[in-house]
This record gives sequence, structure tokens and C-alpha cells, in this order.
Amino acid sequence: MSTIAFIGLGNMGGPMAENLLSAGLTVQVFDLNKAAAQRLADFGAVVASSVEEVIKGADTVITMLPAGEHVRAVYLGDHSGGKGLLNLVESDTFLIDSSTIDPESARLVGSEATKKGLEFVDAPVSGGVAGAKAATLTFIVGGSDAGFAKAESVLKYVGKNIFHAGQAGDGQMAKICNNLMLGILMSGTCEALNLGIDNGLNPKVLSDIMLQSSGRNWALELYNPCPGVMENAPASNGFQPGFMSKLMLKDLGLGAEAALKSQSSIPMGALARNLYAFHNANGNEELDFSSLFEFYQRDKK
Ligand code: NAD
Repeated sequence: MSTIAFIGLGNMGGPMAENLLSAGLTVQVFDLNKAAAQRLADFGAVVASSVEEVIKGADTVITMLPAGEHVRAVYLGDHSGGKGLLNLVESDTFLIDSSTIDPESARLVGSEATKKGLEFVDAPVSGGVAGAKAATLTFIVGGSDAGFAKAESVLKYVGKNIFHAGQAGDGQMAKICNNLMLGILMSGTCEALNLGIDNGLNPKVLSDIMLQSSGRNWALELYNPCPGVMENAPASNGFQPGFMSKLMLKDLGLGAEAALKSQSSIPMGALARNLYAFHNANGNEELDFSSLFEFYQRDKK
């Protein structure tokens, strides 16, 4: 059985590490936020206090960090003295980054890993915190065939669908396309529900109708943004916990960067990015991304 070093134990990484422990794997954890790592001790994780310590004896490293700059710093090193995972791990250590980041950073880390004879895959996820808790995440892997096979053998404990998108960075590109679509779907869902409420409709009844009609979509089905409609959705829990609005803005920004490079038109994605930029500027960046619903409401800020 593998010994996993898990770095980044936030909303997603925490429950993923819990599931690896439940599957009987040895899991060593590190997070800059000590409380986030310490919480995993109750589930049997070995808590480390540095990157150097967490990788000792591990054959696989999984990272689940906010953005590209964090991933580059952890793998390649930084100015504050971090040496970088690639310079610290044993030569047969397998590396998986499940963060959502720009494809260029994933390709850079992948090529630096190859230079050192290390296998690295990008394996961003879809499915949200609920999917992380239930071990039903979708993984979108970029890397070699051998890397994909190795990744499957570990990720099967935390996910249900594991896709091979292509070479290093292609997992990130597919994930960016998915989240561009999600940002558009969430804003459209908020807009339609609010229009119904403003015109006297009950949002639960309206949701039930649209779920059996052509407006059906993932946000409406599993993540209703109107408080009180869906008991387990972040909207019914003060928009906590979940996928923070600042992370959705980051992902829509990654879509915009990719579109600039390929000269693609993304008018809907650009509008969704601007909606999230406004929403976050009003102090909502730490709330779940479904809180965009409040942007549309008359009586809210
Ligand atoms: P989060 O902010 O809750 O967790 C990130 C964790 O990384 C934090 O605990 C932070 O302290 C830690 N961290 C940051 N820099 C570090 C470093 N240098 N060393 C060690 N730890 C460090 O974010 P999250 O919601 O768990 O998301 C993680 C990634 O997954 C993001 O890229 C996000 O876009 C992606 N994602 C999130 C969701 C979701 O629903 N939350 C869904 C799919 C993908």
C-alpha cells in the first residue's frame, strides 16, 4: 500500500486525505495552516510541519493548492527559502497536482520533473466539496500513459471517474473549459431564479419545473444557489463551505488567458468573469461561488 504525502488540506484536500486514510493508506499531511493539517490527525494522518518532513518515506505526493503561484513555489522552490519538492523527493516518487492552475505552470512543473527523472501528472478535479467528501470526484489527468496508469491506482480511492485528457497541462485545459461553462451556468441559474422570485414565483417550485425542463443544469440540480431550496447546498448554510468565489474568479481568469492565447471568442465567459469580479469586490470572495445569487437580489448589498 502506498504512503502518500498530501500538501494542501483546505475545503477539497481535507476530505480527499480523509478518504485515502479510510481506504487504509498511510497519509502524511502538511498545510501552511496548521489547524487544517492537525484536523486530519483525528483520522490517523501523520502531521508534518514542513515540506521536507511530509515527503519522508512517501512514494506518492498529492498537492491540492489554491493557484499556479502556490504550485510553482511548492514544486520548484521560492525566494523565501523553499527548496522545492522536485529537489527534495527520492527519484522514484510519483507526483500528482490536483489544484486548478494555468496549463503553462503545469507544463513547466512537468518538464522540470522529467529533467530530474520524476513522473508528474496534473489531475485537477470536478465535483466540489460534496464530491470530495463522497469520494466521487472526476479527475482530469494530463501526463504520459504510464503516469495516467499510476495516477488511476491512487485516485480511485478519492474519485469515481478518471479521464486521461492528454499530455502534461491538458488536464488543466479541460478543467478550465469545464469551469468556464460552470461560471456561465451558475450566473444564468441565479439570474433565472431571481427573475422568477421578482415575479412572484416560489423558487423551489420554479427549480422543480426547470429541473424537468430544458433549463436543467448541474448548478440547478446539485447546487441550487437560492437559500432554502436545497438543504445540503452551501446556499442554505450561509454560502459556506464550498468553492470560494475568489477561486471561481481565478478559473474564469484562466479561461480568459487561454482565450487570448488561442484568439478564441468567449463573450459569455468574459461576462461571467466580470460578474464575479464585481461580486468579489463587494466583500464576497470567501463565500461559496453560488453567493452570486445575492448580486441579483433587490434587497441585498
Ligand atoms: P482552499 O483555499 O480551501 O485550500 C487550499 C489549502 O492550501 C489551504 O488550506 C492553504 O493553507 C494551503 N496552502 C496554500 N499554500 C500552501 C503551501 N505553500 N504549502 C502548504 N499548504 C498551502 O482551496 P480548495 O477549495 O481546497 O481548492 C483547492 C484547489 O482545488 C483550487 O485550485 C481550486 O480551484 C480547486 N477546486 C476546488 C473546488 C471546490 O469546490 N472547493 C472544486 C474543484 C477544484
